[in-house]
Amino acid sequence: MVDRSEKSIKRRDLIKTSIAAVGAATVLAANASPAAAQTSSSADAMAGKRTVYTGETIQGKKVVSALDVNDLEPGKKHLLYLQGVQMRTGEHWYVSVIVARGAKPGKRVVLTSGVHGDEMSSVHTVMTVMNQLDPAQMSGTVMAVTDIARPAMLAIQRKWPNSSRSIDLIDMNRVWPGNENGTAPDRHAALVFNRLLRPNADAAIDFHTGTTGFEVSAFNIASMDVPETKAMAELYPVGQILDMPQNAFPTTLHNALLAAGVPAICPEVGAARVLDLPMIAQFVEGTMNVLKQHGIIAGPLGRTGKDVRVFVGRGAVPVAATHGGFVEHLVKLNDKVEAGQKIAIQRNSFGEVVAE
Ligand SMILES: [Zn+2]
Repeated sequence: MVDRSEKSIKRRDLIKTSIAAVGAATVLAANASPAAAQTSSSADAMAGKRTVYTGETIQGKKVVSALDVNDLEPGKKHLLYLQGVQMRTGEHWYVSVIVARGAKPGKRVVLTSGVHGDEMSSVHTVMTVMNQLDPAQMSGTVMAVTDIARPAMLAIQRKWPNSSRSIDLIDMNRVWPGNENGTAPDRHAALVFNRLLRPNADAAIDFHTGTTGFEVSAFNIASMDVPETKAMAELYPVGQILDMPQNAFPTTLHNALLAAGVPAICPEVGAARVLDLPMIAQFVEGTMNVLKQHGIIAGPLGRTGKDVRVFVGRGAVPVAATHGGFVEHLVKLNDKVEAGQKIAIQRNSFGEVVAE
């Protein structure tokens, strides 16, 4: 106990004085906890295992503060919680981890969703893929994390509601690879990135949808100048690829992984807040292709980008309303339109057309 408080005082010295006392206390708590967990599993550490069990069980699932999928029993599915950032009330945010560890060794692919909290179809895509896997027949490992920004999912909204110096809404897909000494979402991102995702990934796919209020078609975001990510995106029977250079949005999860040496892409499974089952099926087929390409599962490839004559674009433009009122679309997504063509009208509460 004496050791730990001395350590805490030293840590406090490192923290900039501009951080409010409550914020600093939370940082200390978050750092103290994994250290305590590591002490409790010294036997595992001596056995060369990098997985750290905290000793807790939540709703029947064991809790880890760090994971190496190679420590898990082969040929089985494992359901765990990763201990994420600690809240100022003392509890942690936990994220759900599903690991299908193949009977034979091989590549490790990571699937993630829930970096934004209003994106249902992406979560369902990951769950569907995991439910189709039989670890006894697999060579390699697939790990899924479905609910990375837990508080955003709780509120069914894009951003993490964070209360530090003021009330903020933090976009979790602009903070990667995180910072263990930052705000709560920064620290959470760092814990998830450093202790769960990066150490267990030879390739990664971070599933999203559009954000609330947008109609969006199916597409994949990938750096097409990186051969590994280009190959992954082209394995999806999805009609559009948005070629986005890695440095355009370096703090997104897929680009932070790419910067850390893990080829990663970002599929966009349609609109937020809906379960689009036909569209989900396209992304499941593509993901199974990626697992086949990496030799994790056997069998012939399904349909790919070639079968849908995939279109690769260099930009995406949201068409935003120019007036308050009720929108009526006059064209469907992916319809061909010409310059000057009317694509939507808006009416006011009296039913009068106020914008075209
Ligand atoms: Zn998203």
